[in-house]
Amino acid sequence: MRRNRVVVVGSTNMDLVASVPRPPAPGETVLGTAFTTTPGGKGANQAIAAAKAGADVVFVGAVGDDTFALDLRQALVDAEVDTENLREVPGPSGVAAITVDADGGNAIVVVPGANAQLTTLTDADLQAIADADVLLCQLEIPLDTVVAAARHAAAHDTVVMLNPSPVRPLPDALLAAVDVLVVNQTEAWQLGRDVLAAVPHVVTTLGADGVRYRTHQLLQSIPSPTVDAVDTTGAGDAFAGVLACEWGAEPLAALIFAGAAGALATTRRGASVSSPTRAEIDALVTAWP
Ligand code: ADP
Repeated sequence: MRRNRVVVVGSTNMDLVASVPRPPAPGETVLGTAFTTTPGGKGANQAIAAAKAGADVVFVGAVGDDTFALDLRQALVDAEVDTENLREVPGPSGVAAITVDADGGNAIVVVPGANAQLTTLTDADLQAIADADVLLCQLEIPLDTVVAAARHAAAHDTVVMLNPSPVRPLPDALLAAVDVLVVNQTEAWQLGRDVLAAVPHVVTTLGADGVRYRTHQLLQSIPSPTVDAVDTTGAGDAFAGVLACEWGAEPLAALIFAGAAGALATTRRGASVSSPTRAEIDALVTAWP
């Protein structure tokens, strides 16, 4: 089966994760117990998930001129994502400074850095979008860039898939261009009924309860395989990336496949590193009644 050509226009961040007994109060210093740096950002995570599932993926994004930029680019290259359209801009790369406390609760500061400088699309970006089967976007980059990408895709019969996270009001020009909206329950609630009703395909992810899929003609629930979840970080990104890889004439088959990918992502720690390979997803889908 031919897999989709996917263009992701989105963010890439370095996640700086400190394990702490409890988060520090203002003015306080606490001693952490562990520290990791992991490439992340919803755009890059979803691009990597799509590529690991077998899609041809082009990533349109921006890194800074700091040392993090090298690792952020390399994470995409390692997953065989095309980074031809990833630019380097002056200043810091995007970072997320995260504390994880003993109860698993987290506190996060995101500084967009280079992601905020992704304000224009080049001719090469526009060509890649026009040539793709699916454009996949999130909202961790300037909204105007997402709108421009989506409108260009819609004008060239490229399916526009949007994961509107972090959620914010969606301009009419963007809503009119979106074919598939991928939201979790919180985002669905925040966007509201009218916004969801405006989109042809709405996919609501429900964690361990699977997925709800709505078109103007049908409403369908798709359960998720049961797995031993250890860390749900990255499940939503794995789901969205794999859905973009599979989306086509049979949405239900694509949703089952993406749901299995989301489930597998919860069985490992981390975000993009936890997204499964095609062989792993195939094995789970086949074993599942
Ligand atoms: P988000 O991380 O954006 O909140 P969800 O938690 O809804 O997204 O997860 C996305 C998808 O991953 C779900 O629709 C489901 O298919 C799968 N998934 C997530 N958590 C689990 C779980 N505990 N068990 C099985 N599948 C899961």
